[in-house]
Amino acid sequence: MGSEEFCVVCGRTGRELVDGVCAECAADRTVLVDAPQRGEVVLCPQCGARRVGARWERFGAPTALSAEDLAPFLRIHPEVGLREVRWEERLAGPTVREMVGRARIVFRGVERTVEVPLSVRLTAQTCTTCGRKSGHYYTAILQLRGAAGPRTKRPRELKERLAQRWETLLGEARADVRRAVSWSEELPEGFDVYCSDTLAARGLARLARSRFEAEVTESASLFGRKNGQDVYRVTFCLRFPGLTPAGRRSPAPRGDAGPLEP
Ligand SMILES: [Zn+2]
Ligand SMILES: [Zn+2]
Repeated sequence: MGSEEFCVVCGRTGRELVDGVCAECAADRTVLVDAPQRGEVVLCPQCGARRVGARWERFGAPTALSAEDLAPFLRIHPEVGLREVRWEERLAGPTVREMVGRARIVFRGVERTVEVPLSVRLTAQTCTTCGRKSGHYYTAILQLRGAAGPRTKRPRELKERLAQRWETLLGEARADVRRAVSWSEELPEGFDVYCSDTLAARGLARLARSRFEAEVTESASLFGRKNGQDVYRVTFCLRFPGLTPAGRRSPAPRGDAGPLEP
């Protein structure tokens, strides 16, 4: 009886059928891969970062559209295995690129190449990192200091230690917190680190407290108004205990209860 089963569309026999239809005919009648009418890619013209939702990713990526930009727009039928997509630019307007993807796919054992047209709007937007670098924008300052007391006679050793602790903190912080760090200034008594995000700065201050038992004091100063609201800049003073000014190698930071900064 099996040999008499035939595809209800093309009538051929000897083919595997799903709901009475062979794979070839099912592939013809199914949207295997497509894309929305229009996609948008937001990129930073300075550094090539892409905005994904509220975040910036792929810092330093080339500004030309790549498969990595376009693949997320593809809508793929659940039974389709995507082998490869080759993208070609058909038309490059000032802000819109007409692309076509040629997708090699497999559907129920049948191989096909499907053309997927996609029109992509390119929106240039300076990313937060580049914006704050160019504008020296900041909302918070982290003051890295030794423990309270008279000034050290060996500021260089103190600063080396502070820099080490700071590197440790950064290494343990999330990437978005690290990116909130704009620039830093060296002072005789330590470092001032400027941050473009107060929450990130507060997170680093808390990390300094839990990791190094740093004493943290927070103060805010009004620096302007934006959209009818007062804007504050917050200063976090971080005093790290146990920083010996003599340049001796101190043991691991945790539990480091060495002499306070004299
Ligand atoms: Zn058929
Ligand atoms: Zn950028």
